Amino acid sequence: MLSSIAAVLEAYACHPEQTRGRRHAEVPAPTRNDFQRDRDRIVHSTAFRRLVYKTQVFLNHEGDLFRTRLTHSLEVAQLGRSIARALGLNEDLVEAVALAHDLGHTPFGHAGQDTLNECMQAYGGFEHNLQSLRVVDHLEERYPEFDGLNLSFETREGILKHCAKRNALLIEAQEPGGVAHRFLNGTQPSLEAQLCNLADAIAYNAHDIDDGVRSGLLTLSQMDEVPLFAHYKTVTLQQHPGLADASKARRLLYETIRRMLSDQVYDVIDTTRQHLTQHQPQSADEARLSGPLVAFSEPMAQQVREMKSFLFKHLYRHPQVMETTANAQVVVRELFDAYLSSPQEMSSDFSAREETPRAVADYIAGMTDRYAAKEHERLTGRRLLA
Ligand code: MG
Repeated sequence: MLSSIAAVLEAYACHPEQTRGRRHAEVPAPTRNDFQRDRDRIVHSTAFRRLVYKTQVFLNHEGDLFRTRLTHSLEVAQLGRSIARALGLNEDLVEAVALAHDLGHTPFGHAGQDTLNECMQAYGGFEHNLQSLRVVDHLEERYPEFDGLNLSFETREGILKHCAKRNALLIEAQEPGGVAHRFLNGTQPSLEAQLCNLADAIAYNAHDIDDGVRSGLLTLSQMDEVPLFAHYKTVTLQQHPGLADASKARRLLYETIRRMLSDQVYDVIDTTRQHLTQHQPQSADEARLSGPLVAFSEPMAQQVREMKSFLFKHLYRHPQVMETTANAQVVVRELFDAYLSSPQEMSSDFSAREETPRAVADYIAGMTDRYAAKEHERLTGRRLLA
């Protein structure tokens, strides 16, 4: 079981004084290290504020209490920081990566991303992870001397969590040995980056159950099909029989999710500690060479996979979700076609760009759900989404 709560940065953590630095050299800040500074830049960015009106699973207008990309990102940061502290990893870096990890998401969640990717097939495609990196490297316009936020290598490395080989080669050509290098030589990102990836999955599995039940698309009893959930629900009811009353259904749901979430967190901490003991990495770079170290135990990984496939089948592919998804796809495709044939309909900084298809993709990807719906109505005269 867990022993102490580490208060120090372990040797295998990313130490800010050993950062590989920024693409444009800057004078150090007097009171903040580089990762704290990265986090602050992310929080103040335009793309970060837009996350509040971007879909996680349920479209933004469908209800006030569903997760948005913003609240999802905050939950990932919270989970990531708790785990980082217990493992002696760098909390500031974890927070920066977690808050930035979804900045490149299109409006309307995965439906938007898939459609934009289809529209962009002839022009290099569209990947949301790569887009998150584009946002912080190029698209934010806040500083007099450079594009983007000029974040540290380690934060950018964590943001680029997946990348197709074709795109990795393009980045590598621009930035030899940089953030895309690991996709070409098969090494791992920092432990902090590995952690954010897992914290993301822990967060969305839990909150999608909550939102799914809240929406009425999933029922509590239906969730008994998921062994991980059923186990904690049974334990909760044994200890709190009063929660079996229908009027207490919400408390039963929350308590079950809370226990499930905590055990996943403890499982990651325990398993990762075992891996660290086996491999003994003495620096962040040694950890990058040791294969994935931040992980679930195999039994927990299996249960998490089962939960994921349940959610996929019963929530993400629910007919009601699919119907709004279909409308969202039409909105994105028609917006893309409209701007491609009439670039002057975009704001001037995008219409002035030479590579029109990429400018259109960047423009659409940056939109909130409601702005995209409004623009679609302006350009086509049809209102497909509320
Ligand atoms: Mg995410």
